[in-house]
Amino acid sequence: MRAFTYDALPMRVVFGPGSLARLPEEVAALGLTRVLVLCSPEQEATGQQVAAALGDRAAGVLAEARMHVPVEVAHAARDRAAQLGADGCVAVGGGSAVGLGKAVALEHGLPVIAVPTTYAGSEMTPVWGLTEGGTKRTGRDRRVLPVSVVYDPELTTTLPVAMSVTSGINALAHAVEGLYAPDATPVVSLMAADGARALVGALPRLVADPTDLAARGDAQYGAWLCGAVLGATTMSLHHKLCHALGGTLDLPHAPTHTVVLPHVLAFNAPAAPEAAAAVSAALGGAEDPARALWDLVGELGGPRSLAELGMAADDVGRIADQVLAAPYGNPREVTREGLVTLLRRAREGRPPT
Ligand code: NAD
Repeated sequence: MRAFTYDALPMRVVFGPGSLARLPEEVAALGLTRVLVLCSPEQEATGQQVAAALGDRAAGVLAEARMHVPVEVAHAARDRAAQLGADGCVAVGGGSAVGLGKAVALEHGLPVIAVPTTYAGSEMTPVWGLTEGGTKRTGRDRRVLPVSVVYDPELTTTLPVAMSVTSGINALAHAVEGLYAPDATPVVSLMAADGARALVGALPRLVADPTDLAARGDAQYGAWLCGAVLGATTMSLHHKLCHALGGTLDLPHAPTHTVVLPHVLAFNAPAAPEAAAAVSAALGGAEDPARALWDLVGELGGPRSLAELGMAADDVGRIADQVLAAPYGNPREVTREGLVTLLRRAREGRPPT
């Protein structure tokens, strides 16, 4: 076994159908008396439901969370929290709502409780992001890590099937890259393997019946573990590529991850046999895990082409150059030729090789 350093992040998780009812206890146990509920405009009704569950401990609802956390929105949240005398935030929703809570925690020190309703996993990481003048800054700071996370699968039954699939594969990407991360550790790899297994098992069931609470619970359990893996390890080529595709071409976050993952897995598998074996096991013992994953995305009705998401043929070289310009760890050496081939196939919707 390789030498390693295991440095666990604190995590407190309240999990299970109906666990939203336990949110007031969580808020009280943390000594908070007036919390501001943060959510996206599309989930204002859920934000109000959470505020109602909190009763007197809710200071108000701010339904202004947006993708990539614009700095103006973070300042509006800070001002509202100050006006209302809030002593903490409850972020309800996906990565955008949790990201807004993190921005408030970073700049103003208010603790965040997360109530995730997608599978993005941001609630398990100390990574924050803020967008100003079209440029997104990101960083790691333990102060932004939510102090408590309430996972209630009942809140995920409204997540549309297409988003459930892409968000689930986005979570799977954290597990895949965590398995071959330069700072992988045996315990985190166990979480990655079990998270991948849970998600792969749950996604077909929730596509068949989006209200299936057992499937939703398994998907959320998988998303939790995959998020924890994201928080504990350094991501490689897949996340760098998706970051460039999202930042430069404005491609949508979770669908981009869904298209790219099978291709990066095929590229890295020869250099990361143990990780590939763990992903194969999660996929039911598939001989070629990348192809099995690509097939699974197709069966789930997910996107398999970057062109479909808005990438032009001319963008391939530009993105390849951008990714090559930034140094990062990856189990296999990345050449321009290799990257261009990978991006072309992913753009055209061809199977991974
Ligand atoms: P999102 O939070 O933007 O949500 C997408 C849409 O789905 C929103 O309109 C939201 O209101 C809606 N939605 C969410 N849950 C729903 C539900 N249960 N029912 C109905 N509608 C629902 O998308 P996301 O994919 O969760 O997060 C993406 C963002 O998170 C990106 O900005 C990404 O960079 C960030 N992210 C950050 C980290 C980190 O560690 N910092 C990790 C993962 C993602």
